[in-house]
Amino acid sequence: MKERFLHYIWQNGFFDQNNLMTNQGNRLLIRYKGLLNTDAGPDFLNTQILIDDILWAGHVEIHKNSSDWYAHGHEKDPAYDNVILHVVYNDNMPVYNSHNQQIPTLELSKYIDKKVLKTYKKRFETKTFLPCQDAIGQIDEITLLNYKYRLFIERLENKYQNIKNWLLETKNDWHQILYQTLLKYTGGPVNKEAFEWLGRLLPHKIFIKYNNDLIKTEALLFGVAGLLNDEKSDEYYKVLQQEYRFLKAKHGLDELPAGNIKFHRLRPSNFPTIRLAQFARMYHQTGHLFEKLLELDNPGQARKLFTVTASVYWDTHYNFDKITKPKKKTTGKDFVNLIIINVVVSLKFAYQQHVGHYDNDTLIELMEKLPAEKNKIVRIYNNINLPSKNALDSQAFIQLYQNYCIPKKCLSCDIGHNILKKGL
Ligand code: SF4
Repeated sequence: MKERFLHYIWQNGFFDQNNLMTNQGNRLLIRYKGLLNTDAGPDFLNTQILIDDILWAGHVEIHKNSSDWYAHGHEKDPAYDNVILHVVYNDNMPVYNSHNQQIPTLELSKYIDKKVLKTYKKRFETKTFLPCQDAIGQIDEITLLNYKYRLFIERLENKYQNIKNWLLETKNDWHQILYQTLLKYTGGPVNKEAFEWLGRLLPHKIFIKYNNDLIKTEALLFGVAGLLNDEKSDEYYKVLQQEYRFLKAKHGLDELPAGNIKFHRLRPSNFPTIRLAQFARMYHQTGHLFEKLLELDNPGQARKLFTVTASVYWDTHYNFDKITKPKKKTTGKDFVNLIIINVVVSLKFAYQQHVGHYDNDTLIELMEKLPAEKNKIVRIYNNINLPSKNALDSQAFIQLYQNYCIPKKCLSCDIGHNILKKGL
């Protein structure tokens, strides 16, 4: 049995609290269980208890065996002198603090809710991945729905924590943050790091100066991406090369080292050349993208903004120098949805947090109107009866997978909590 489970039992009161006695033979009444401490020191802080009607205020330390008190060296540590109750599953010895005062012990095994304990052992003391899978179907819709909302917001909050650091670094330059995030997701799974790096080497402040001129915009992107360093006979390539050489010297630009931009195993429509040309068009078409993004509140508006077609040269090319059958290179539905989910919604949420204007309902509505993502995580939950009906669901399940199921935090998960509470 893990200590975390005993914390969970204490915190949620899953034990008979009416006739408690310490192992020293005194009546015990819990007035306030205290706050779970995730830092160093006792497990629950500022607890209030009555022992034989005398009020005690202090901390609670929880262990599987009372001898763990000594195994952890608490008897010598003044940080534990204010512990007023030692809660253990198994009391195998009396314990004393650094002033040699005995600490009252509550032996939880005498009072624990047997149904919760049985369910815990059956479900969560196993090594199975997703130990809740057989019970999930019995959890009611409302509980699941509320949990999905919370997971989704939690995911946005996590992203906002990173954006906060980024805001400090860029001195609140939201344009740079949008530009770099958009580049990252435009790069797709294969080129996201390289494209994000490109956004640092070619700052938004320089890039945006040329957004009215599509040739210069493409020249900057392809040049800093290191894609204009060869000798080619292609006329368009030569024009971009010439433009880039001039702009590179003017702004002292550095380039991505060769080999960072990858074409390998990509469909031609996802080639980095096509994605960069589409990215150039996004900014060429709508210069003040960040302001536009803040105004968006439905998928239709967002689709309009990010559905763009690469310049004419790309109608007959997927890469420089190789002519192909004519086809407009317009961003597809899946790509645009991915941008709305990962860029638009994340940055709108972050900005709302930053300025203190909260409107989670609009973001939730927007996500509920978008189709669910298609990925490995979504398939895992689909297979255990948790289908993703929309993008809010799929984002919630990504949060669940990464932050609860993988680190096995079933006791911090609403699904796990429900299973234990109901004995499923
Ligand atoms: S974290 Fe929650 S959903 Fe994941 S396995 Fe545990 S109980 Fe199930």
